[in-house]
Amino acid sequence: MNKVAIIAQTKEGQLSDTSKQLISFLSSFKPESILILAIGDVKFTSTASSRPVDVIHLAEGLWSDSSTVQPLLSVLDGFHVFGIKSIQIDNLLSLLAASAKKEMVSGIQQLQFSNGTFIISKSIFSGKASLSLTSQSATYFSLNRNFDFSGSVELSEQNVGTSTSLIQSTTSEASIKTLKPITGSIPLPEATLVVGAGRGFKDPGNWTIVEDLAKALGAATACSKPVSDLNWRPHHEHVGQTGVKISPNLYIACGISGAIQHLAGVNGSRIVVVINNDPEAPFFKHADYGIVGDVNDILPRLTKKLQSH
Ligand SMILES: Cc1cc2nc3c(=O)[nH]c(=O)nc-3n(C[C@H](O)[C@H](O)[C@H](O)COP(=O)(O)OP(=O)(O)OC[C@H]3O[C@@H](n4cnc5c(N)ncnc54)[C@H](O)[C@@H]3O)c2cc1C
Repeated sequence: MNKVAIIAQTKEGQLSDTSKQLISFLSSFKPESILILAIGDVKFTSTASSRPVDVIHLAEGLWSDSSTVQPLLSVLDGFHVFGIKSIQIDNLLSLLAASAKKEMVSGIQQLQFSNGTFIISKSIFSGKASLSLTSQSATYFSLNRNFDFSGSVELSEQNVGTSTSLIQSTTSEASIKTLKPITGSIPLPEATLVVGAGRGFKDPGNWTIVEDLAKALGAATACSKPVSDLNWRPHHEHVGQTGVKISPNLYIACGISGAIQHLAGVNGSRIVVVINNDPEAPFFKHADYGIVGDVNDILPRLTKKLQSH
């Protein structure tokens, strides 16, 4: 791994925490050079790397077809390219890999590099199984949001080397008309903490306690399919086989039975906490921690405890 490029997400003008973790992790392999492709308007003077890194600022928006990524392909020749899973980064990585006719591995949970070989552990079958593989030819890598960074070295911050900007090629037929950032909520596929709620809440008016807990944690809210079918919650919150797939570090499932179709969308979560008043609820078999109790009692107590810290 001589040359490493990282497609980095930015938030409020700064590199996101997960992008910094990824830079730190990849720096520990001591590559010859590190290039950061920063999406969005970001002004940063240091990264979590042990050496100066080069930065290319990418225009935010639609990297929609192979013609738009041509300027990037020549820059990335000879690099191993990494990103942390998000809709935007996965789109860009797969577009780059397909255009360059190079191999891409996604859904990565653990990664090592030894003697020119990548040793990768990734989730398959909607997170029901884990696959270990080795590759010498993979070039593009999408890491799960709950990627295991535990082996990485803590590095001090360093100044940025060169900094340039790259805008999209204008040859694309697609163009952005408007770009409306979602404000006030955390997009589910990118959330590292999620509070999910099911039909056990019985009425949409009871969601205040779910939102309070999510707010206290800084978490996104999710729901089971019947809840969104009943229009108790918006459809973009529905997780499962037919909904959004999530892979947060922590998923708290409240008043959800744990049907197989729900589990298919959430079993990429690193830690699962289940709160249900039925000790026989199937979800408990898939939980790391379980609380048998009434959500109307447990959730406010949890929120209060979190708020007092
Ligand atoms: C083709 C197909 C695709 C599907 N896709 C999805 C999908 O993508 N996502 C999905 O979620 N479902 C999906 N389903 C539906 C799925 O099979 C289940 O019906 C659904 O997940 C159940 O939702 P639930 O757990 O919220 O409700 P329920 O099954 O009604 O469970 C409610 C739970 O709340 C508990 N409870 C009740 N009161 C309380 C209380 N006061 N305190 C604590 N706990 C309480 C109960 O013990 C129960 O376990 C799909 C089904 C089909 C056939």
